[in-house]
Amino acid sequence: MPNRPFIVGNWKMNGTRAMLAEARAIDRAAARHPSVAVGLAPPFTLINGMAEAVQAIAVGGQDCHVAASGAFTGDVSAAMLDDAGASFVIVGHSERRAGHGETDALVKAKAEAALKAGLSVILCVGETADERDGGKAEAVVGRQVDASLPAAEAANGSLAGKLAIAYEPVWAIGTGRVAQVDDVVIMHRTVRERLFAAYGEPGERLRILYGGSVNAGNAIDLLAAEGVGGALVGGASLTAESFRAIIAAAGPDEG
Ligand code: PEP
Repeated sequence: MPNRPFIVGNWKMNGTRAMLAEARAIDRAAARHPSVAVGLAPPFTLINGMAEAVQAIAVGGQDCHVAASGAFTGDVSAAMLDDAGASFVIVGHSERRAGHGETDALVKAKAEAALKAGLSVILCVGETADERDGGKAEAVVGRQVDASLPAAEAANGSLAGKLAIAYEPVWAIGTGRVAQVDDVVIMHRTVRERLFAAYGEPGERLRILYGGSVNAGNAIDLLAAEGVGGALVGGASLTAESFRAIIAAAGPDEG
């Protein structure tokens, strides 16, 4: 891959200020692995504190609203994430698609709003267990990518370094059931074809991350797989001890 591998932790709805100590320890680990790009997406409440506490890692949001401001109780805009110190945002996570009824069209609108606000975007796609068992994984994920991708104009025409896709099979998230490496390669190839169809040659250079029960034990094989540009990590990003091992799997310790 032309890019540094991108290892991103999604803390979901976990963490109070006491957990900033873990973020600091993760930051120190990231500094020892400069060939790896590392990000952490804490809950909204910790973004500012984390951004002020770390140096070597990017801090991101887990979602944003499509509007810049307005009467949207409980929501947070991309501009607000930026103001709090975030540099990226995750959109279309399956927990938002399933739990909050987010459609591909909404995910696309959120991605475009985030890019316009100057944030990078990690856009999540992935099939359910039924879809995989029904032999529809490639078709479903291909359709999700086609319908969720932001227009390049939202990033002033250049998405380089601004957009990554996270392929996260829903059945692998938080279950301990990791996808087979061969299947990950096939699915990443499918996503790559769609990126090329949408953006042409620049689509070849966008990162595609794998997510779903990544841990210290399986990270080396997954990250070495063809077309895998990094990992989106939930549970194993919550402690420095487990996340550090995944960062180490992505690049050498140069500390
Ligand atoms: C996720 O929430 O994006 C995720 C991949 O979670 P986990 O690593 O816990 O499966």
